[in-house]
Amino acid sequence: ATNMERKNVWTASDAAKKEMIFKFCEDYKKYISDCKTERECAAEAIKIAKKAGYKDLKTIIAKNGKLKAGDKVYACHMGKTLALFNIGKQPLENGMKILGAHIDSPRIDVKQNPLYEDSDMALLDTHYYGGIKKYQWVAMPLAIHGVVALKNGKTVDVVIGEDKNDPVVGVTDLLIHLAGEQMEKKGAKVVEGENLDILIGSIPEKAETKAEKDAKESVKTGMLRILKEKYGIEEEDFFSAELEVVPAGPARDYGIDRSMIMGYGHDDRVCAYTSLIAMLDVKDVDKTSVCLLVDKEEIGSVGATGMHSKFFENMVAEVLNCLGDYSEIKLRRALINSKMLSSDVSAAFDPLYPSAFEKKNAAFLGKGMVFNKFTGSRGKSGSNDCNAEFLGEIRNMLDKQKVCYQSAELGKVDVGGGGTIAYILAQYGMEVVDSGIPVLSMHAPWEIVSKADVYETMLGYKAFLIG
Ligand code: MN
Ligand code: MN
Repeated sequence: ATNMERKNVWTASDAAKKEMIFKFCEDYKKYISDCKTERECAAEAIKIAKKAGYKDLKTIIAKNGKLKAGDKVYACHMGKTLALFNIGKQPLENGMKILGAHIDSPRIDVKQNPLYEDSDMALLDTHYYGGIKKYQWVAMPLAIHGVVALKNGKTVDVVIGEDKNDPVVGVTDLLIHLAGEQMEKKGAKVVEGENLDILIGSIPEKAETKAEKDAKESVKTGMLRILKEKYGIEEEDFFSAELEVVPAGPARDYGIDRSMIMGYGHDDRVCAYTSLIAMLDVKDVDKTSVCLLVDKEEIGSVGATGMHSKFFENMVAEVLNCLGDYSEIKLRRALINSKMLSSDVSAAFDPLYPSAFEKKNAAFLGKGMVFNKFTGSRGKSGSNDCNAEFLGEIRNMLDKQKVCYQSAELGKVDVGGGGTIAYILAQYGMEVVDSGIPVLSMHAPWEIVSKADVYETMLGYKAFLIG
C-alpha cells in the first residue's frame, strides 16, 4: 500500500490505546520542555535510566570490572553523548541491536566574546548552530541554556527564560513600515547571520570599581554586575562557556483535538526519547541491546561527542572486556554482526507545500513510524541506502507486533535532501536503516509531531528489540 492508503494510527487505535498515546506523550512533552540542550538531554536520560536499574559503566570498571547477561549499564562522554547497554544472553560477538538518535538541535550559540553595548542596549553576539531559516528566529521569546566553565575547575549551569517568572531574551526585527528594502531580499538574506544578536538589557549603570569616576554609565556594566551576582561569572568567562539560545517555554498540545505536540527540538529528541523508553522497557534480551544518544549531528556528527567519534567503539571494547570476552576480533565481530535503527525525524507531507513532495513516497502525519531506505541528495549521494533483506526482516518484526509504519524519502527527487548518522555506523559493516517520526516545520523554532506517531514509533523500536 502507498502511504496514502495506509491506515491512520488514530483510526487503527481503540479507546484504550488512544489513552496510552496521550499518556505517553505527556511524559515526552515534559522531557523536551525540560531538556533543550544535548547536555540536559543526556543528564535527564541518565536519570531515567538509573531509575530503570542502569549503572554507570565507569563505576563498574573502577569496582571489579565485571558484567554478565541481564546487567544494564550506561556510558556518558563529556556530558553530551550517551551509550546504554542491556547485556543479552548471547555472546556480544554475535552482534547488538542498536537504537540511535541525536540529541543536539538547531539553535543560536553565544560567541566567545559576545557582550557589547550599542545605543544604550546590551547584546550578545552569536553564531547559529545547524541549518536554520534565520528569519524564523526573530521577534519571539528566547531562553539561554548552557554552562560556563570557570578557571577554578567549577562549571556553572545557566538557564534563563524558562520559569514563568523569568525574563526572556530575543532577537529584534525591523518594523514592516521601514522594511521595504528588507522585504525585497531573498529568504536567506532577509535576516543575516551576524544580525542574530540577542538583546539582553537596557539599564545603564556606573561601574563600582577603580575607574568609577571616569567610567561613563553603561548598560554593559549593569549586565556584568547581574551575571556576577546571579552566576558568579565575569566577562572573561564567556571564553570557556557554551551558551545556547533556544525558544523559551514548554512544549504544548497542538490542534483543538490535542492530537499533536508543538515543541522545540523534536528533531531529534522525539526519536531519542522514544528509543530510550523502548530500550528501558524491553528488559530481557537475547542479543545485547544498545541505545545511542549522540551530539553534533546537525553539524556533521563531528567532534568527540559526535557519531564519528570512536567513543561508542571504545565502550563496546570496555563492555567486552567486562564480560571477560575481549579480543580485537570479537570487537570487530560484535560491530559487523549488529543491526541498527538509526532514527531521525522525517519531513511530514505538508498540504501547503505539496510541490516539495512526491506523495506516494512522502511521510504522512499520523501514519506511524517512518522508514527511509535511503536519504541523501542528488542521486542518493551521501546516503546509507540500506539492504532490502534488512527491510524484509524489519517488516516481519513490525507486522508481528502490529505496528503502523510507512516508507518515505525526504522530498521530491532533486528538490533537496539531508543526511543522518546511519552511514557512520554502517562503516562497521552492520545493517543500518533510517527510521523515525514525521515532523512538520522541521528546524523551525517550534516543530510539530503527531502524538500517534510518537507512541507508534516507540512500539516499533520495541518490536525491533524483541523481534
Ligand atoms: Mn535530525
Ligand atoms: Mn536536523
